[in-house]
Amino acid sequence: MSTVKEQTKPETTVEVESFLKNLFQGHIAEDLVFPFPEIPEDVKETVEAFAGAYTEFDAAHLDSDKMDKEHFFPREAVKAMGELGVMGMTIPEEYGGSGFSSAAYCRMTEVIAPLDASAAIVVGAHESIGLKPLLLFGNDEQKKKWLPDLASGKLIAAFCLTEPEAGSDAGSLKTTAVYDPTTNEYVLNGTKQWISNGAFARFFSVFARIPGNPAEKDGHKEIACFAVIAKEDCTLPGLSRGPEEKKLGLCASSTCQIIFENCRVPAANLIGEKGHGFKIALETLNTGRTSLGAGSVGGSKMMIKLAVDHATQRKQFKTRIADFEMIRHKITRMTATTYVLESMVYLTAGLVDRHVGDYSLEGACCKVFGTEVLWQNINDGLQVAGGNGFMDEYPYGRALRDSRINMIFEGTNEILRLLIALSGMKELGDSLKEVQSALKSPLAQHGILTEYAHKRLKGVITHDKLTKVHPSLAPEADQVGRYAGIFANACETILRKHGKKVVDKEYQQERIADVLIDLYAQIATLSRVTAAIAKKGEEKAAGELEIARWFCARARHRMVANLKALDKNRDADCTSISDRVYEAGGYPYDLWA
Ligand SMILES: Cc1cc2nc3c(=O)[nH]c(=O)nc-3n(C[C@H](O)[C@H](O)[C@H](O)COP(=O)(O)OP(=O)(O)OC[C@H]3O[C@@H](n4cnc5c(N)ncnc54)[C@H](O)[C@@H]3O)c2cc1C
Repeated sequence: MSTVKEQTKPETTVEVESFLKNLFQGHIAEDLVFPFPEIPEDVKETVEAFAGAYTEFDAAHLDSDKMDKEHFFPREAVKAMGELGVMGMTIPEEYGGSGFSSAAYCRMTEVIAPLDASAAIVVGAHESIGLKPLLLFGNDEQKKKWLPDLASGKLIAAFCLTEPEAGSDAGSLKTTAVYDPTTNEYVLNGTKQWISNGAFARFFSVFARIPGNPAEKDGHKEIACFAVIAKEDCTLPGLSRGPEEKKLGLCASSTCQIIFENCRVPAANLIGEKGHGFKIALETLNTGRTSLGAGSVGGSKMMIKLAVDHATQRKQFKTRIADFEMIRHKITRMTATTYVLESMVYLTAGLVDRHVGDYSLEGACCKVFGTEVLWQNINDGLQVAGGNGFMDEYPYGRALRDSRINMIFEGTNEILRLLIALSGMKELGDSLKEVQSALKSPLAQHGILTEYAHKRLKGVITHDKLTKVHPSLAPEADQVGRYAGIFANACETILRKHGKKVVDKEYQQERIADVLIDLYAQIATLSRVTAAIAKKGEEKAAGELEIARWFCARARHRMVANLKALDKNRDADCTSISDRVYEAGGYPYDLWA
């Protein structure tokens, strides 16, 4: 019988590294993305039963409007969520959790987020990031000590990385952890900013700098991660909280500063190795991002329902507004992008559950594409609702407010585009270096070359094709294969042109990231539709085929535009225009001035 549980590593470890990093070298590691991961019926039953229980819980215990207006998440509700098992979904059973797979967790996030976004933050800040450093990097003793209470919700977790001066540049954090050998403790000093669950968390994953340890030039290597545990009344000497932030959205969720003033933490609370804190923070965020995509799937589905209900009931010009083509366009766009996003999220969750070596770029794509799709879908839904959409009694305004932060936290979408472009280019650069050194001493190097370097040396860099897509989608499969090749060539050209300076070329990085996101979106969709056809036949999968064709045609336009602009663009004008505006301190061309 299949299970909702995470698959165990030894049986399923896949040796090939990141699917998307391979795309930078023109290699489509098709076996990683075909067949589309199937969710077994018994897993569906178990997860859907839990989702049903949560939905009932939400109706009975969470007065979403009241909580939002009062800017308060009742503490009894947090406790009840723990009792329901929501706080331990991803924690292995041996520590009292449910041991959900990534797919199961994504499904639950999809259900929880549209019911109440603040509740999704309580869960996400706890499970996706707060306790993740312990889960991923803690030792056995630490796990045994804290995971059971984290699973039951007795301990609520928070993730403390951001500081007033260290946001996107988290590696510049200033909080210090100074070792005191007399007590075998670290003494923490510093301020963490905008910490979700801050008011009621008792388990804090805190990132702090151990000055001068080790004496590395790279400041990141001084950073360590500590588990800081507050007492049952949430207090701890040396730890204090700032006032609750007044926010645009997610109003019921708790966001506050966590201030450390000579806060003493036992040395045994160090998570992972001393210099590995920054890596732990990045890994944690990498694993959490797919679920932000999943929350966006849930929010988008809700918007489609609202838009369809309104469009089919509202008449203007003696016609259902649903029948106007501009409304149809919105409904189609909302549905297609949601389908594509759902495909990306569950394809990525499948990679995580198969323990593929590296899914950082796939997770980042889900987050960037998902949060932007959700924003557009809420905007479309609101537009379909017309004036009603602007009224407080309808859910659109709140949905806009609540969803806006998705594009900012857990790595802003700008930073994630940099991550996508530069991580892929780095890998490509390493392979090219290999080619160069092999050319210098071909015999010495040959045995250890990557497949890519081998091909490059032979001068036969033919790009891969998608071979497993259903024949009904052959033109779309061809398109993806062709553009994956063009993309890889373009990345190589950019890299050769700029060398290390490519890190400063953000105009280009944004385009590269956007093409990669479009490639992944199409591949995920083609994989899913192929599986749908195999399962229910072409006729029954007709709607999904249409979506794939519609989306791939759109994606092609974007890819062409982005790839062309890598070569011919107005980037110099863009720099100059913004320089003039900076110099003027605002809009310099006021017609009335
Ligand atoms: C409601 C809420 C909850 C949060 N919860 C947590 C939490 O639980 N734990 C935690 O540690 N943090 C949390 N954060 C912090 C959040 O992760 C940061 O706000 C985020 O990382 C961005 O940092 P910043 O706000 O300082 O923006 P900045 O880093 O100052 O960025 C400002 C703008 O500049 C852009 N930018 C920055 N650098 C670059 C670059 N190199 N290239 C292009 N553009 C760039 C950014 O994309 C952004 O648009 C939360 C924030 C909010 C608002």
